Amino acid sequence: MKKIIIAIDGFSSTGKSTLAKLLAQQLQYVYVDSGAMYRAVALYVLQNNLTNGSDLKTDQLIHKLPLIKVTFENNKVLKSSEVYLNGTNVNEVVRSMEVSNVVSIVATVPEVRQQLVTLQQQIGRQKGIVMDGRDIGTVVFPNAELKLFMTASANIRAKRRYEELAVNDSNLSFQAVLDNINLRDHLDSTREDSPLFKANDAVEIDNSNLSKQDQFEQVMKLVNSKLES
Ligand code: C5P
Repeated sequence: MKKIIIAIDGFSSTGKSTLAKLLAQQLQYVYVDSGAMYRAVALYVLQNNLTNGSDLKTDQLIHKLPLIKVTFENNKVLKSSEVYLNGTNVNEVVRSMEVSNVVSIVATVPEVRQQLVTLQQQIGRQKGIVMDGRDIGTVVFPNAELKLFMTASANIRAKRRYEELAVNDSNLSFQAVLDNINLRDHLDSTREDSPLFKANDAVEIDNSNLSKQDQFEQVMKLVNSKLES
């Protein structure tokens, strides 16, 4: 059976990872959450005091890059892959607002991107992969057989994210989540190295008013047409 690469890009909290996981499950492909890799580096930055607020100590971070090992391991119970930073499972902690607040600054550093893109391309060498992020169809796998670009209104995205995070954080405000999403959209779309934009050959999906199931069915049609071609 032919194996393809599915690249899913788009704005923050557009449900990329939910869709990517469903596709990987259905197709028996490997799912790679490239955002989790940037988040792991951002966690390293926080743990090692390489930032004062939004002021990143870029030179020190670049110097430490060879010491930052980001890997994935399969959680056999949950049947999903989880991200590790230097051998420690950081899958939960990388989703925190503390990490969300610095990750997009960390992701502007070309040396960080270079290290992670190399790793992503190695993981994708065998095909049979679904990867989501911001530059997957444009930079990481420009020849991916299927490229999706996901959008939804900022308010709807913030509402979804808030509901997800508020379960574990009763102090969280909706406004803080919305502000973070708007800030990350801005930083991701305007950075110099590998900004977020829709590749010419990507299919745009606005899921503001689309159920997860309908979206999955629409995308599976696209996948099947690629597998048959
Ligand atoms: O996908 P997620 O929202 O977890 O990604 C966190 C951040 O990592 C993004 O806001 C973006 O700044 C960065 N990122 C990136 N390139 C990717 C994936 C994520 O710059 N391929």
